[in-house]
Amino acid sequence: MEPVIVIGAGQPGVAAAAALLREGLRPVVLEADPHPTGSWPRYYDSLVLFTPAHFNALPGLPFPGEPHRYPTRDEAADYLRTSAARLDCEFRTGHRVTSVNQEGGEYRVLTEGGSELTAPMVVAATGSFARPHCPDLPGLAAYTGRVLHAAEYRSPAPFAGRRVVVVGAGNSAVQIAVELARPGVPAHDALGHHARRRPGRPARRAEAGEHPTEPPHDVPALGLRTSAGTRRRCAPPTARTWCPACR
Ligand SMILES: Cc1cc2nc3c(=O)[nH]c(=O)nc-3n(C[C@H](O)[C@H](O)[C@H](O)COP(=O)(O)OP(=O)(O)OC[C@H]3O[C@@H](n4cnc5c(N)ncnc54)[C@H](O)[C@@H]3O)c2cc1C
Repeated sequence: MEPVIVIGAGQPGVAAAAALLREGLRPVVLEADPHPTGSWPRYYDSLVLFTPAHFNALPGLPFPGEPHRYPTRDEAADYLRTSAARLDCEFRTGHRVTSVNQEGGEYRVLTEGGSELTAPMVVAATGSFARPHCPDLPGLAAYTGRVLHAAEYRSPAPFAGRRVVVVGAGNSAVQIAVELARPGVPAHDALGHHARRRPGRPARRAEAGEHPTEPPHDVPALGLRTSAGTRRRCAPPTARTWCPACR
């Protein structure tokens, strides 16, 4: 019997393992992927974090490098991998959990490969990335263009010469829309459709040019629509005054 089983080795899974160790419990972490890196390697290639490095540090595991910079996707994955290696507990990678059943006072955990573990406590840290939410928009079934969730997006290259509508106004939506609208990227006409009246705060900061790696001044044309009906085409916007209607 294990003292605790943690399922998933993303930020919460690794953080839970670190916290359990501090409490004197030695968990076993079961991770489906070959490395304890969460979903970071599956995010789009150009992803840059919206939180500075020092905000991404897990307790007792400093994020390397200058603390105020914005790390890349691969740095985030490397950091998790390194952090997991520093913890004095077992990470069983390549172990996808298929079922968890409570039996008496304990949990029986089965994996795809046929392993069976028991523990009085299980932490589920499996995230939501594996099950992206695609709203059932009216008319979508009849739409003949390509529809994909941000979870499937990797880079702008496949969208060369196409018009793109980005639905949403969170971190992924804004970073992807900015990337699609960049000069030098063939898909030069990206439309950001904001479901909410205002984008979220991190998105607004990115739009305002506060993100060092995504300055908006090189974005030639990025249309924005909000539920309030606002539509602006910013061509070309100046740094820090990008689409003021949306702030
Ligand atoms: C574009 C984008 C930008 C972001 N920027 C930031 C940022 O700047 N700062 C920040 O703090 N956060 C940011 N986030 C959010 C951050 O990525 C997530 O909140 C966090 O990584 C989620 O971690 P998680 O462990 O819950 O999920 P995941 O990272 O998805 O990890 C879940 C893990 O569980 C494993 N797993 C799933 N099912 C099973 C199973 N049955 N058996 C075994 N293992 C399983 C998966 O393989 C995976 O490794 C961003 C997210 C996106 C999409």
